[in-house]
Amino acid sequence: MIIKARYALVAPGDLRRDVQLETDGNRILSISEGYVHGAPPCDIDLGNAVLTPGFTNSHAHLELEFCQGQTSFNGSFVDWLQHVRDLKKQRGNQLSTFPLDSIRQLAMSGCTTVFDHHTVDLEWDRIELTGLRHIPLLECFEFNNDDPDGERIRNRARFGYAPHAPYTASLAVARTCRRLATEAHVPLSVHMSEFNGEIEFIRNGQDSEIQHLHELAGTSNEHFSGTGMSPVQFYGDNGILDEHTLAIHVNYLSDGDIAVLQRMRPTVVYCPRSHAYFGHPQHPLLELLDAGINVALGTDSLASNDMLSPLHEASLVRDNFPGLPLQALFSMVTRNGLAVINAQHELGSLCTSYIADLAAFRIPDDTADDFDSVFGAVLDNGRSCLTICNGRIIHIEVSAGVQVHG
Ligand SMILES: [Zn+2]
Repeated sequence: MIIKARYALVAPGDLRRDVQLETDGNRILSISEGYVHGAPPCDIDLGNAVLTPGFTNSHAHLELEFCQGQTSFNGSFVDWLQHVRDLKKQRGNQLSTFPLDSIRQLAMSGCTTVFDHHTVDLEWDRIELTGLRHIPLLECFEFNNDDPDGERIRNRARFGYAPHAPYTASLAVARTCRRLATEAHVPLSVHMSEFNGEIEFIRNGQDSEIQHLHELAGTSNEHFSGTGMSPVQFYGDNGILDEHTLAIHVNYLSDGDIAVLQRMRPTVVYCPRSHAYFGHPQHPLLELLDAGINVALGTDSLASNDMLSPLHEASLVRDNFPGLPLQALFSMVTRNGLAVINAQHELGSLCTSYIADLAAFRIPDDTADDFDSVFGAVLDNGRSCLTICNGRIIHIEVSAGVQVHG
């Protein structure tokens, strides 16, 4: 397939003009700039549009699609979590096992890879047929379970593992997930340092809201009396974190956390719109980046967000951190999240021989001719007119000026 477009953002800081990109099967065969002598006619002429790599949503819960518009936040994170549990219960714990609307939203936003926490079996075959690169991570709880059955957890997992959080999964559950992930060479994902109550609870074993949550769920653990450490240090000390781990949120840093993150090298996943929904103070994003921590962006679920688009997240980061270079922001929604599956060298950039994941966005005719302006116009648009994953079209809008030949 040969695709033409006015621009391509092939990698951070790298803008190409009058681009012709050719795919062969699921790979990018070539990407050339300017007039190509003797080039065959193209299959898709995007005109005044920008080609980008397919974007990565590094944290979602697609099974919570049914929560869209159903939740509200009253100032208590734990109340909100309990409300989501109640909504699940009202449905007889029938979650969205084929989250079609979520998958459509992702494809429309130019996203081709999503890291997805799931607690139940999804309709794997139907999801695979959509063409999206869906990376499931089995979410485990059981704060009161000090002797988990590893074989049972392994049998329930489709791919990776996700002990929910230090205050909702026991250390034994987290260690078991860690062992299973390491043995299978798959990623681990964990919510961490999301709110102050969690940090208090992990440090000194006391937080009235979390204790109430455990009482309601019947998951209180009489053996847990606090660790004297922050969640990051607690999991760092116990070997839960490594370079194939997604540390979700890290909204609050305690003294010593940065050193742990530098040593263990997880990817921190900042979920900007979910972060704003819960009214947290400014995320320590710049501090993390200054310390050399790998940071990616995620959306979290439709229970705390209204869209699943990585670009929508990036546009909020651009607004809230005006000094942040757009090249760094581009990396956060393309290649950074891919490190945990060792795919950053064949996905996340538009390079010859890379897997053909790409998106395309219409931009105004008068967009200035530089990386920041063109990526800025992509952020302003936010809606892909062509999304290709693994060489296959998963979303196309012919009405947006796309000319399809042949
Ligand atoms: Zn989450």
